[in-house]
Amino acid sequence: MVPTSALPSSTTCAVVGCGPAGAILGFLLARAGIDVVVLEKHGDFLRDFRGDTVHPSTLELMDELGLADEFLKLPHSRVSRVQLQTTAGETLRLSLERLPTKFRFIAFMPQWDFLEFITRRASSFPTFVLLRGAEVTRLIERDGVIRGVVFRRDGLEHELQARITVGADGRTAVTRADAALPLIETSPPIDVLWFRVSRRPDEAEAVAGRIGPGRLMVMLNRNEYWQVAFVIARGQADAIRARGLDEFRREVVAVAPELAERVQEIRTWDDVKLLVVRVDRLQRWYRRGYLAIGDAAHAMSPIGGVGINVAIQDAVVAANALWLPLSQGEVGEDVLAGVQQRRQRQVRLIQSFQTFVQERFLKRTLESRRTPSIPWLMRVLLSTPILRDIPPRLIALGFNRPHIESPARDRR
Ligand SMILES: Cc1cc2nc3c(=O)[nH]c(=O)nc-3n(C[C@H](O)[C@H](O)[C@H](O)COP(=O)(O)OP(=O)(O)OC[C@H]3O[C@@H](n4cnc5c(N)ncnc54)[C@H](O)[C@@H]3O)c2cc1C
Repeated sequence: MVPTSALPSSTTCAVVGCGPAGAILGFLLARAGIDVVVLEKHGDFLRDFRGDTVHPSTLELMDELGLADEFLKLPHSRVSRVQLQTTAGETLRLSLERLPTKFRFIAFMPQWDFLEFITRRASSFPTFVLLRGAEVTRLIERDGVIRGVVFRRDGLEHELQARITVGADGRTAVTRADAALPLIETSPPIDVLWFRVSRRPDEAEAVAGRIGPGRLMVMLNRNEYWQVAFVIARGQADAIRARGLDEFRREVVAVAPELAERVQEIRTWDDVKLLVVRVDRLQRWYRRGYLAIGDAAHAMSPIGGVGINVAIQDAVVAANALWLPLSQGEVGEDVLAGVQQRRQRQVRLIQSFQTFVQERFLKRTLESRRTPSIPWLMRVLLSTPILRDIPPRLIALGFNRPHIESPARDRR
């Protein structure tokens, strides 16, 4: 932990937020020899479940950095096939086994382990500083240009001047609000209730999707337990809570009878976390001296578990674009515009796919009182040989995938 007496007052790049986007950007810039300070409001990475799907696109990037082998030594589980099953016995399968990549699986790894791994490696570069417990409260603006941030640590306010400030502070970003960039919002028809129940060693499936009349649930294998996403209609969380925990447990068992005894492990509503699903994107990701990336630029729906991976790809593109101008002086608006241009088509395409699934499948399933059937369009898409690899490819690899172009300088 950097002591208050040693807090930096200026740097080349200030990165606000040490989630996947901020951690990777900090790592890549420091690796290229750029002074970077990453400010994280929390004291550690151990928070509530935040999503932990590391896709082949991210594993390929780790491989380019020479870190994949070490990274995959961390405890994780692997998923190559995903199966959704209706209560009527109909199944829908998605396979990553034919994808054109070295890593034909999704690695499920707690986000805190991922962040700890990256920041520890970043700390081996002399130009990397991570300030934990540093909450950014506003941007510093002079003559229409963002010149750094004001942050609070241990009850005291400090200023950090920077040539460029990157907002990687997530979907409720303070920086993007302060930068007053226009936001395009959508209203997804779903929210998600997350909880966990224990998993038996003989339960083989890695991801278990369950669909019943008016209900939809996905269970993610986390070795000792299932992390369960119970999908609900938008804004229904209070009504579900009002019906009581016993009724909620019954709803869970209706789609996953094998959990009949284990639902008692949900003891209070504190064990059930609400994710209010947001799908939005900035119309413009930048202004002079400031760039937003990751969820701060575009919150993604949980469908496909792409959020972390898209955020990391943003960070790679930002590092590719920023390292050289930062090593030479100011960063022009054209450089920042280039980052948005390079990333926005993929973000729009994935959000459109997610909206399609939400509206055409999830919403209809939640509204139906009959035993649902898999929509014919999805069945055709996932069973026709020349089409079936398109959705998994889009989810697992994205398209126009960035590669690491920023150089590697000396370690400490
Ligand atoms: C319950 C849940 C489940 C999810 N499931 C998945 C999944 O399975 N797969 C997937 O890919 N994605 C999932 N996501 C989404 C995924 O977590 C995000 O898309 C991803 O973490 C975005 O990365 P980011 O770095 O842009 O932002 P974040 O991960 O949100 O990181 C932002 C960071 O900024 C910090 N911060 C915020 N404000 C400030 C401030 N003012 N000053 C300093 N620091 C600040 C925060 O503490 C945080 O560490 C899930 C999200 C949630 C909430």
